[in-house]
This record gives sequence, C-alpha cells and structure tokens, in this order.
Amino acid sequence: METDTAKIFEHYRKEFPHYQEFIELMQGVDKLRKENEETLKKDIFNLNQTEATQKLKEGQPLVNLKNDHFADKLPKSYFLDLLSVTEKNHPNMAKELRDIVSAKEDAYAELVRELFSQTQKSSDANNEPVTPKNPDEFFDLVPFFLHESLKPFFTRLAQEQQNIIENSHWSQGICPVCSRPADLSLLRDNEGKRSLFCLQCDFEWPYKRLQCPFCENEDQDQLSYFTIDNKDQEKYRVNVCHQCQRFIKTIDLRKTDNKINLEIENLITLHLDLQAAKEGFK
Ligand SMILES: [Zn+2]
Ligand SMILES: [Zn+2]
Repeated sequence: METDTAKIFEHYRKEFPHYQEFIELMQGVDKLRKENEETLKKDIFNLNQTEATQKLKEGQPLVNLKNDHFADKLPKSYFLDLLSVTEKNHPNMAKELRDIVSAKEDAYAELVRELFSQTQKSSDANNEPVTPKNPDEFFDLVPFFLHESLKPFFTRLAQEQQNIIENSHWSQGICPVCSRPADLSLLRDNEGKRSLFCLQCDFEWPYKRLQCPFCENEDQDQLSYFTIDNKDQEKYRVNVCHQCQRFIKTIDLRKTDNKINLEIENLITLHLDLQAAKEGFK
C-alpha cells in the first residue's frame, strides 16, 4: 500500500512536471493523513442509522454543515497541522490562517459553515467574473485545507453508510453524504457507465449519462462537451450545460491503465477549468 502510493506520486511527478507544486502539496497532505490516521477515524457527526435512513428517504444528504452541528475539536486541530504543509511555500498565508483560527473558539467552525453555504465549487466561490490567465488561479488553498480537515471524517461516514445510500438509489447531482456538488464525473465499464464523484467524501454514485448534475437538465441540445486535442489528455473531457452554464470535468477510466488518484487528477486538470471559464462556464 505504502509503496503503491509512492509509485503513484512518482508517476504523476514524471508525467506532469508543470503541476509539481500541487503534486507535492498532495503528497504532504497524504503523509499527514497517514500519521494521524487513528485519531481522524472518530465520529464527529453523531448521526444514527435511523436518522440517516430517514434523511436519504426524504432526498436529503446525510450531513450539511451549513446548518448541522459537528464536533469541531479534531478537524480543527488537523486543520492547524495541515497548515504546516504549506508553511514553506506560503508562510504568510499559513500564519494568517493560524492566527484567525486560534483567535476565537468557534472561528474554525464558522469558516466551515461559510464553506458549506456556498453552492458552487470552491474554485469559483467568490462569484466574481473571472478573467483567468493561469490554471493556478483556480486553486485556492483555504477551501482546500478546510475540506481536507474534514475529509477523513466524511470518508468514514461514507464508508459506514455505503449500504443504506446504495439502497436509497440516490439520483441527485449533489453528494448524498456531504451535500456538496459533485467534483468529477467518471466513465467506467465497457458501456461507459457514468458516475459522479465527491472529493470531500471519496464517494462515488451512479448518475444518468445525459443529464446535467447541477440543474438536472436532460435536453440534449443544451448539453455538450469539449476535449483537449493531445495524447496525454485523451481520457479527459469537460461536460458543459448551456442551460445553467456550468461544467464538470469527466475522466474516462476506460482510457487509462495506470492506477489513478482522483485528488491529483482534479489538480493536474486545472487547465480544463481555465478553458471552461474562458468559454463562459462556471
Ligand atoms: Zn461528499
Ligand atoms: Zn445545467
């Protein structure tokens, strides 16, 4: 397992040297996650089986941190640890965040609530019209670390409730576990079955092949996709919806033999976010 992960990082570093900083960042996070594995396995949501079943039955995700209470002590302490990963490259930002979170008892919980109140992806959370030049502009460290600080807890919840989620036949574009919009779309199997993927929970659920996960539009004239014409880009496409002007990156897993890591894939495809924004999608 250990060497497996090391090999995967090595492969990405070789293949995508221009995304070096992101790959190193992910590697730093991965190391910290492993070091804290035992502590980060605790239940911070306190959701029982009956409540979970009921919520899904009503079409509600298990947890929505916009309103739901959670025990913030462990994720907060992990968040502060995470800042060390970026200390070298962004010392000022790390210090500023550490000061903010340490200054007030519930500052961290407030940041989390704010994050989950945004209905869009973190990359365009400020809702400003963008004139992007560089893929890096689509990456914001603050939401990245906030999401990561909760990730081990959400991943645990997703694994524990996997069966009842499957039985609920969830068919929405938001994640049934954490309520966030899907981060990626995946194509698998010979027939190219589609599923959506949430990076907050590492959770994957089936979704209609020809439907927009954001506005549920099924009008084929309003849905399309674009690709980048390059050998190392053939497994990627960007699905766009002309009704809601949103996009989602799709990875065709039939077109790769390599073991892939979806967290890294999301980062090394930031040029696709840039391209989509240039074409007016968000
Ligand atoms: Zn999720
Ligand atoms: Zn749409």
